[in-house]
Amino acid sequence: MLDIKQYKFWLCPCTQDLYGDEVLEHVHQHALEVAEALNASDSIPFEVVVKPNLLTSDVIQETFNAANMDPECAGIITWAHTFSPSKSYILGLQDLRKPLCQFATQYNEEIPYDTIDMDFMNENQAAHGERELGHIFARMRWNHKVVFGFWKDAEAQKELGDWMRVAVGVNESRNIRVCRFADTMRNVAVTDGDKVEAHVKFGWTVDAWPVNDLVPYVDAVTDAEAKALADEYYDTYELVLDGRDPEEFRRHVEVQAAQEIGIERFLEEHNYNAFSDHFGDLGGLKQLPSLAIQRLMQKGYGFGPEGDWKTPAMVRLMKVMTAGMKDAKGSALMEDYTYNLVKGKEGILESHMSEVDPSVADGRIAIRATPLSMGDREDPARLIFTGKTGPAIATSLVDLGNRFRLIIQDVDCKPVEKPMPMLPTGTVFWEPRPNLKVGTAAWIYAGGAHHTAFSYDLTADQMVDWAEAMGIEPVVIDANTNLRDFQRDLKLGEVYYR
Ligand code: MN
Repeated sequence: MLDIKQYKFWLCPCTQDLYGDEVLEHVHQHALEVAEALNASDSIPFEVVVKPNLLTSDVIQETFNAANMDPECAGIITWAHTFSPSKSYILGLQDLRKPLCQFATQYNEEIPYDTIDMDFMNENQAAHGERELGHIFARMRWNHKVVFGFWKDAEAQKELGDWMRVAVGVNESRNIRVCRFADTMRNVAVTDGDKVEAHVKFGWTVDAWPVNDLVPYVDAVTDAEAKALADEYYDTYELVLDGRDPEEFRRHVEVQAAQEIGIERFLEEHNYNAFSDHFGDLGGLKQLPSLAIQRLMQKGYGFGPEGDWKTPAMVRLMKVMTAGMKDAKGSALMEDYTYNLVKGKEGILESHMSEVDPSVADGRIAIRATPLSMGDREDPARLIFTGKTGPAIATSLVDLGNRFRLIIQDVDCKPVEKPMPMLPTGTVFWEPRPNLKVGTAAWIYAGGAHHTAFSYDLTADQMVDWAEAMGIEPVVIDANTNLRDFQRDLKLGEVYYR
């Protein structure tokens, strides 16, 4: 489900023909050396390939248009090795539709004090060239990323690698296809929005299907298939019967197994990678899909409940942006439920009715089948767990009528103080930065939803870069947030993002 393309990034050295062929050959050789070092780095998640020196306006247009047409090219990395007059970039940048990072690096780490002469200065003038190059992006209001630092430096490599994941998110956003079983919950504002504008801005396809078009796919799952998958569940998870008869419990679990298989077949057949449902509109389904959806989210599908179509798309985006990441801790749908207001122990209990993604689970995962206390179906079997601890981000994409805003919050996930034996859902407990009081007020002022797309593995900076690339408004709530400045920034956004 998370097999994405073998994306490549094009390293394009920026130069000109003023310094002779020898210098141009050095520039090319140095680019090969930089690419080799980047490709050997654990921080660089995608292959870097060297492209011909960007010498003239013609070469630049040719290279950038080739990048547009190559589905495996996720972005361009420029490096102004020498001076490179930036009017040469104007026509190419007018055509370029792939993300671009200006890697403001330099071949040599140190000034060679004893030998430096004018030949060296001509060949190695990144400080000079990067400014000329940067100017044209500013002049053209072309949204690009700047990563500054020595190419062997771990921090610079990490920043470049983080941007690569953003660039893949920009490319893959166009492949996000959300299937909506049922419409948005009646009268709920924040989960709704302009689906046409989402298609224009993000490239997302958002389609509606009657839930009863899904039901035959679930009904067509054979008993043997459902039993085999339920066996896998029983081997994988602990069971908490809550006094239920084991055979009756097993029947609830098999309903979810058939739903997992049936929903996945429907999504595969219709080419969707994200979906939403609604507990109040389940048609012929026997239970609210719970364990079924939890497993599908873990496989890489985006999901949102109550007809929310923006959160499933964002969850899918995060899963794609973090695909293949070593030691990933997980990206998931979350929902703000209940505060703990006790001084020194403040935080928000995150959960959902039942559909919480076990990819964020820490340790033991158990199956329970308990009443939902909403809707009119059988008690759904679901997975129960506690989330991992550590820093993470919560994001909410909202439609403000004239624009989308992406609210991005730094949070710290903490252990819950005590077990919650009566609560039959997966949970995460976090404290927003800078603290519960300011972080929550800022989130509310910004119009953030109760549903969030949450990730331990992406940073606020990455989500800001993604939002900027999409041309929407990012707002960040972090350790430096104070409400007076934050509210002013929201007002400034009203002016800028018309
Ligand atoms: Mn909800």
